Amino acid sequence: MLDLVIRNAVLLDGLGSPPQRGDLAVYQDKIVEVGRVTDKARQTVDADGLALMPGIIDNHTHYDAQVTWDPHVSPSPSLGVTTAVIGNCGFTIAPCREQDRELVMRNLTQVEGMSLDVLRAGIRWEFETVPQYLDLLERIRPAVNIAAFVGHSSVRTYVMGDAATQRAATDDEIAAMKRIVVEGMRAGAVGFSTSTSPAHNGEGGRPMPSRLADEKEMRALVGALKEAGRGVFMLTKGGHTQMPFLEDLAADTGRPVVVAALLHNSTNPESVFRDLDAIREANARGRRLVGAVSCCPLSMDFTLRSPYTFEGLESWQPALALKGEAYRKKLGERQFREGVKQELSRPAHFRLFNAEWDKVHVVESRNAAYEQKTIADLSAGKDPLDFMLDLAIAEDLDTVFSALLLNSDEQAVGRMLRHPASMVSLSDAGAHLTFFNDAGFGLHLLGCWVRERGVLTLADAVRRLTSHPAQVFGIRDRGVLKAGYHADLLLFDPATVNRGAKQRVFDLPGGHPRLTTPAIGVHGVWVNGMKPQDDARPGKLLREFAA
Ligand SMILES: [Zn+2]
Repeated sequence: MLDLVIRNAVLLDGLGSPPQRGDLAVYQDKIVEVGRVTDKARQTVDADGLALMPGIIDNHTHYDAQVTWDPHVSPSPSLGVTTAVIGNCGFTIAPCREQDRELVMRNLTQVEGMSLDVLRAGIRWEFETVPQYLDLLERIRPAVNIAAFVGHSSVRTYVMGDAATQRAATDDEIAAMKRIVVEGMRAGAVGFSTSTSPAHNGEGGRPMPSRLADEKEMRALVGALKEAGRGVFMLTKGGHTQMPFLEDLAADTGRPVVVAALLHNSTNPESVFRDLDAIREANARGRRLVGAVSCCPLSMDFTLRSPYTFEGLESWQPALALKGEAYRKKLGERQFREGVKQELSRPAHFRLFNAEWDKVHVVESRNAAYEQKTIADLSAGKDPLDFMLDLAIAEDLDTVFSALLLNSDEQAVGRMLRHPASMVSLSDAGAHLTFFNDAGFGLHLLGCWVRERGVLTLADAVRRLTSHPAQVFGIRDRGVLKAGYHADLLLFDPATVNRGAKQRVFDLPGGHPRLTTPAIGVHGVWVNGMKPQDDARPGKLLREFAA
């Protein structure tokens, strides 16, 4: 007797084949038949013409901390995600010694916009090493499958302590770091992740540890993947990290390289295409690189209390370490403001905010007449930065702004999504929870880029959410509707599928807020043959990856 049969579905196999009408059968946690199923099952679902695809693989999340207090990794499963890759950009919580916990949490607060109170109340620190953290994930039994990176910044802090944010590593320290990466890979990590992005700052505005690594250190640590014989190298690239260096690493190690975060910047519109073209050319020379792109416009809600939007600016650094009155005073200083204006007037390779004041609007103000108006309109006659900071200071920094930062050019994003060197990515689920929530990126791809804009076919979009990331990350037997594969499934209505409008909910540890988006047009999600529900968490920690 079968466990589950889904009948009369439009099957999207994940490989990009044309949709086929048919049934799919599940026994235990595996797909056992696709096509015509005649056997009886314990449970039958009549799909009645709805579409059935493999579950979405979200390859860029930051659930490392959240999964320890919320094994449901809300809201991802409800948005069709059945596998999440955690620990991107090098920001993990393992390895970590007891005395470094506070520092690691403070860094995450700054770099990933997580609330310090939430992290303190939430994280279950039942580990020190990467293998112990992986064991904890297994004990937790998450709702979706999890693949975890070994994160460079955590490894660096573990080996170098405070010096991790201050200097290059010695040969001995590099050797110690390399041993930790190899140990993590042997225990079942999916790869090694890092960041060289100037947008990534930790506590007090200090650069995140990985940014202090020199080429020698990078080569050694990526070399650990070669030694382990598998694993993906993932990095969020700063402007100074050159594509030929990354191609070199790919060539030396033979490992796949995921280059993030390729977001379109309207003020430097060709830059991401140069990167994507360079990746395509490297691949023509036999390397394996992909450019991680997003299908979502990057917009952020923020107040001047925690303006992630500006914190990557060099000229903002003097404000980063300040608190309270000193911080407020800094925001009012003429010289500080002039520095910011000057920096914004120069073009940048990668910068979150590019002085597009017509794309920044007031969400909540004591002056209701300001709400929903743009800073460009409101500031008429005054400098927009001065207007914004004066308004924020006058309202005790409570004014809520929203900025559409990157990826707002529809045509350009369409071009990126179709580019042969791109991989759909960058949901950042689990991070920046009060700024934005793109955990529903997959539903957005299907609703917006397939149905509304016709940029991708449904079959190709499904492939880009499933078998493509599975192949890049070496995730075995998932991402395809095929007998013998794990039963990670998403049943949805192509006519309505989408993510809903963002909502503010207050369900983090201590009642803290986050943004979330509901699913539209989702009729069923199965992970390893079971629906993730209150009492059922069918996800697995993935430890074995293709070489
Ligand atoms: Zn990230």
